[in-house]
Amino acid sequence: MSYPNTQLFIDGQWQDAADGKSLAVFNPATGKEIGRVAHAGTADLDRALAAAQKGFEKWRDMPAIERNKIMRKAAALMRERAGDIGMLLTQEQGKPLVEAKGEALAAADIIEWFADEGLRVYGRIVPSRGNLAARQMVLKDPVGPVAAFTPWNFPINQVVRKLAAALATGCSMIVKAAEETPAAPAELIRAFADAGLPAGVLGLVYGNPADISNYLIPHPVIRKITFTGSTPVGKQLAALAGKHMKRVTMELGGHAPVIVAEDADIALAVKAAGAAKFRNAGQVCISPTRFLVHESIKNDFAQALVKHAQGLKVGDGAVEGTQMGPLANPRRLTAMAEFTQDAIKSGATVAHGGERIGSEGNFWQPTIFTDVPLEAKVFNDEPFGPMAAIRGFNTLDDAISEANRLPYGLAGYAFTKSLKNADLLARRVEVGMLWINMPAMPSAEMPFGGIKDSGYGSEGGPEAMEAYLNARAVTIMNV
Ligand code: NAD
Repeated sequence: MSYPNTQLFIDGQWQDAADGKSLAVFNPATGKEIGRVAHAGTADLDRALAAAQKGFEKWRDMPAIERNKIMRKAAALMRERAGDIGMLLTQEQGKPLVEAKGEALAAADIIEWFADEGLRVYGRIVPSRGNLAARQMVLKDPVGPVAAFTPWNFPINQVVRKLAAALATGCSMIVKAAEETPAAPAELIRAFADAGLPAGVLGLVYGNPADISNYLIPHPVIRKITFTGSTPVGKQLAALAGKHMKRVTMELGGHAPVIVAEDADIALAVKAAGAAKFRNAGQVCISPTRFLVHESIKNDFAQALVKHAQGLKVGDGAVEGTQMGPLANPRRLTAMAEFTQDAIKSGATVAHGGERIGSEGNFWQPTIFTDVPLEAKVFNDEPFGPMAAIRGFNTLDDAISEANRLPYGLAGYAFTKSLKNADLLARRVEVGMLWINMPAMPSAEMPFGGIKDSGYGSEGGPEAMEAYLNARAVTIMNV
């Protein structure tokens, strides 16, 4: 499938921006322009808003079983088209084809789970304290048109987690997906359009992120905001939403601790955390980043992780067998160089990598630092790249204190054979998602989200549905 130009999707129509503006899209493996994406202006946003209101009124009033059928059809189309969609995703984002196709297939699973959950949005009847003729009802209604802002690291997954829950509850949504990776999310929206979604229920726009969020968030049509991206931008958008009393879900950055206890299975820890570390070149909000390893096994663990990194095949994601692709944009290359220089300056040892690969595309070596001081930037700021930083610890309490030291609280990992340790870790590590003795395994049915500076709200499980519902109390007196 050759790489297309991406248009806006407004009121059921694919269209260029009213003023004809567009932006270039680049392949991160080559640095070459591969296509363009339409750049929405205010006139386009106004049309998208009017359509979202109209679409909401229609979708809200459709029986849940009819909404379910359309969503399930869209899921089937995603599955059917996963190979072609994966090719687009790899070209614009860089990840290996197998991961890109997997992302499209996972979207189908997520849509189906939420479609079925949408059949079970029930209110309740609460007996009155006084007059039994008073029928007290709790009604669950969709919040209304939603504005969603999503990033470039999982261009399909970050959108589908939002829109599947929103559509299943009867909301409409305007998606502002990432300008750097526009074609894959457009295919997700196309699957819904081809499945018979009424016009206006989904809109897709691209443009200047700050201009669009500043316009959509305060707009009276929009009733809920959902954002995935960095903590600083999330705080800005949450503040703006707060000013206009809009409901918000925020899925922000993390800095995942990996606690490898004295009694851990080192081979398992390396296999599970190593695979999670270098997946999508580390550009994953739940990527393991701070490796806290018991002093007695620290060297063995570091050597094994280096061996794992040495064995990775890095290259163009479109080439069969590639295990790690390029970074998604040149900003990440600059960031990797800064993290590395700072780590060396602060006294860490570069056990593997630490340099750019070649001069074409955004390739960076899988990188492992050992004996990293706490002050090093890589132990404080989210690296968002293929970088593992290792430090020793003496007691599990020390490791837990270090895990909780940062304001982030998204994902965490731990390896231990002791039930007592596992229980302590489960209770004390301040993260929204903790995986013990395994790699990350997010699913539609489990909550997905962070605490502390990593955000609030959830993008999985029944909690994700509640985020798009109003609970209203209505009492009818039988007179
Ligand atoms: P960034 O902070 O500029 O942007 C992050 C995302 O937010 C992008 O998709 C961008 O288009 C969007 N954005 C930025 N300003 C916006 C605004 N005013 N309104 C609406 N959307 C806005 O940084 P970046 O260089 O694109 O990414 C780097 C950092 O972002 C990473 O270090 C990482 O911490 C974070 N990030 C997190 C996730 C995640 O899954 N939580 C995904 C991508 C990026």
